[in-house]
Amino acid sequence: MKMFLPMTKKEMNNLGWEELDVILVTGDAYVDHPSFGVALIARVLEDSGLRVGVISQPDWRTADDITRLGKPKLFFGITAGNVDSMVANYTASRRKRRTDDYTPGGYAGKRPDRATIVYSNLVKKYFKDVPVIIGGIEASLRRFAHYDWWSDSVRRSILLDSKADLLVYGMAERTIVQIAEILRKGGSIQDCYGLRGVVYWTSKIPEDALILPSFEEVKLDKRKYAEAFKKFYLENDPITGEKLTQLHGTQWVVQNPPQYPLTQKELDHIYGLNYTRKVHPECLKKGHVKAIETVKFSITSHRGCYGGCAFCAITLHQGKIVTWRSKESVIEEAKKITKMDDFKGIISDVGGPTANMYGYECDKKLKHGTCRDKLCLFPEVCPSLRVNHSKYIELLEELRKIPKVRKVFVSSGIRHDLVLEDKKYGEFFLIKLSEHHISGQLKLAPEHSDSRVLKLMRKPDISKFRRFKSEFQKINKRLRKKQYIIVYLIAAHPGSGEREAKNLKNFVKAELKYRPQQVQIFTPTPSTISTTMYYTGLDPFTNEKVFVEKSERKRRWQKDILLSEKNISDSKFKKL
Ligand code: SF4
Repeated sequence: MKMFLPMTKKEMNNLGWEELDVILVTGDAYVDHPSFGVALIARVLEDSGLRVGVISQPDWRTADDITRLGKPKLFFGITAGNVDSMVANYTASRRKRRTDDYTPGGYAGKRPDRATIVYSNLVKKYFKDVPVIIGGIEASLRRFAHYDWWSDSVRRSILLDSKADLLVYGMAERTIVQIAEILRKGGSIQDCYGLRGVVYWTSKIPEDALILPSFEEVKLDKRKYAEAFKKFYLENDPITGEKLTQLHGTQWVVQNPPQYPLTQKELDHIYGLNYTRKVHPECLKKGHVKAIETVKFSITSHRGCYGGCAFCAITLHQGKIVTWRSKESVIEEAKKITKMDDFKGIISDVGGPTANMYGYECDKKLKHGTCRDKLCLFPEVCPSLRVNHSKYIELLEELRKIPKVRKVFVSSGIRHDLVLEDKKYGEFFLIKLSEHHISGQLKLAPEHSDSRVLKLMRKPDISKFRRFKSEFQKINKRLRKKQYIIVYLIAAHPGSGEREAKNLKNFVKAELKYRPQQVQIFTPTPSTISTTMYYTGLDPFTNEKVFVEKSERKRRWQKDILLSEKNISDSKFKKL
């Protein structure tokens, strides 16, 4: 029988455990599903023979929650949750959110701002002699000095503010097991300083590291900030990446090269672990967790993304190398899903950061690392990728044949430029997608229509969207299906001013002919290329100046005109 990992002493007693090896602390509800980072890490550590407990959304004002499971033998692992706590707590207009999908009952305010720092300091207060390791998206993307939009300032590495002993960045499964192994054998945190995928600090300059401009320099000088970011970005490759260091006052923050991606065998193994795919009963007592709805019957088929979109953090967190699970492993997971009590025959998604990247990668990248002088998908899809949808088509077909499965949806986004690039299977993929894997709407993310903005975003030219749309319409007409493309757009991205916003409005009105529902105002989240542009006013890769709209009212105007029925001539940009 599948068991949850304990959240209370009573549950530990039921398991006959007096103490735990590792305690994981998370800013989300404890949802035992592989889409939740903390669940993955917990199950991977359990699989390595350790006793693991979880503390979810502890009250940071008292000792009660954080001391609830006692003192772990090896370490505390801390994450803010599946998203950065500032993104979770605030809207794109910096207003407090009223609800939280990752919290039981949807209540806001159960996770502190800068949760990684708050939880780590809390643990340090009550468990002075236990190592604290931070990880997850918040820690990962704030690992060096970084611009923080919410305070409009450059902040130090989160490692220093959190006072944690070690930071694990990127996908942490292999690294965390290696750390646990070292500590279990009596080693110290310092013995982990040689591992890939970790960040630590030292008072001595590391001999073999590439030196980034210091925290003090990047705080004072925007050109230095852009220079530091470029180096940081380019070294984020497990094959060619160098060790990096950045001075903060008298402390050197050191990042070892990224961990190698998991092999297919390892991916198959970790996704096949004993997840209940449910919210832990202790959390459920407090209310329903909305975030499970979209993922409960979904399957992760691959990791990584070679899209490299400027506003997205995936490249720096999951990496540019795509690795995928075997067909057998995905089917096995689907069969487990069909046995769940509340399964109604629908697999809600089979994908990854971008759905149609399953099953092909560039051989050159795998052997020699990602190119530093060109991008895999921009301005054109690189021929070395040899785009091929056949494995993904086959996987979806096999899933459809599983007894009790009525529908298999693809809800992760697809890259339309990849479909167009695949001369052999692209059209067939689009037919199958339209026939079986969407229900009325296909979500696409051209993000903008203006060529200058798209270039800064590193997104394909809008002519590709037009070509794809026409193909999609032809196919659906042939299939006699009334299905539409729903677009995702970003307003006020760096490069977008009044003229570009009006261009986008014209595109929406003339070519889409409906009010777009999915428009977001650009949010400068930590450590993306776009955030560097927003803060410095420079493209970090060319040093060219970039226009940035910083007035909150004008940023909102860029979104509002897309949603409004009014003509552009009626809008009041000048008066803002
Ligand atoms: S050769 Fe092309 S696909 Fe391969 S890493 Fe370089 S840019 Fe990317």
